[in-house]
Formats: sequence, C-alpha cells, structure tokens
Amino acid sequence: MLLKPEPIFEAVESLARENTRVILLSPAGRMFNQAIAAELAQAPELLLVSGHYEGFDDRVREHLADDELSIGDYVLTNGALPVMVIVDAVTRLLPGVLVTMKARRKNRSAMGCSNIRSTPGGGIPRDESPEVLLSGNHGEIARWRAEQARLRTKERRPDLL
Ligand code: SAM
Repeated sequence: MLLKPEPIFEAVESLARENTRVILLSPAGRMFNQAIAAELAQAPELLLVSGHYEGFDDRVREHLADDELSIGDYVLTNGALPVMVIVDAVTRLLPGVLVTMKARRKNRSAMGCSNIRSTPGGGIPRDESPEVLLSGNHGEIARWRAEQARLRTKERRPDLL
C-alpha cells in the first residue's frame, strides 16, 4: 500500500517556505553520512518526510522532494527512526548545540567525514598509558591521537580512508 500523494503535497505545501529543503526518507535514497549531515546543517530549513507502508508514490519523489536519503541498507517499517537519526546528526553540528566550540572541533577532527575515528586512550590505567599521554605536551598528544585514530580506522573501516 502506497501513501496517497495528495495529503503529503498538502502538508509539505503548508509548511515549506522558499528556502526549505524537502527530503524524503527512503531505503533507496542516497546514503546518509557525516558529509551530508554537514551539508544539511548549512540549509536554512529542512523538512523531512517520513514514509510508511510501501513508501511514496513517484509523484512525491518527482515533484516534491529535493533529495532522498537512506540511513542504511536495510528496510525499516517507517521513516520515524531515520528522521531522528538525521535530526540528531545535523543538530549537533549547529552552533551552540554542543557545550563548547572546542568539543565540536575535537569531534570533527576526530571524525573528518568518516564516522569511527575514535581514539583509544580513555580508561587506560595510568601505568599502562603510552608515555606521550602523560607528557603534558598537548601538541604531541593531539598528533598521537590523530595517528591512533587513523590506524584504528585503517584496521576497522579502511573504506573510510
Ligand atoms: N520499498 C519501499 C521504498 O523503497 O521506499 C519501502 C518502504 S519502507 C517499508 C517504509 C518507509 O520507511 C519508507 O518510505 C521510508 O520512509 C522508511 N524507511 C525504511 N527503511 C529506511 C532506510 N533504510 N532509510 C530511510 N528510510 C527508511
């Protein structure tokens, strides 16, 4: 059962303004990732349209949507969770959402456009910590963390490099 297009047209037309970017959630869409989150964070306004049942009529795709996004190669019952994933990933990139700009920069440099470049080092007992972490040299520590993140990504998700 496809969603009837008329109520979707009416809903979008009543909400969208000139600069609103209308995005359909669909397993057949472009794969959502950090780079797309950053791109969406620049948009003046987003309208995410979540489907249900068999999804959308092609008229919705053709005439209403600026973009179609998928959050992964699997099929969910409806688009509510994909919407929440996208809202969360985009919102945290907006100014003032994370506590400090420093935290944002740190996250961004730890991830680039990928998504698992976290670094080891948290929770290591002091006597097992690499010497550099105990050195107090922030530049060296940052370089060490960046290199560890690169190695971890190479090992676990080489496709992201
Ligand atoms: N064959 C349909 C299609 O390709 O759109 C499947 C529809 S799915 C059962 C119902 C709705 O859930 C979709 O319209 C979409 O909004 C949402 N959905 C399901 N899986 C999704 C995914 N991986 N990414 C984004 N949205 C998804």
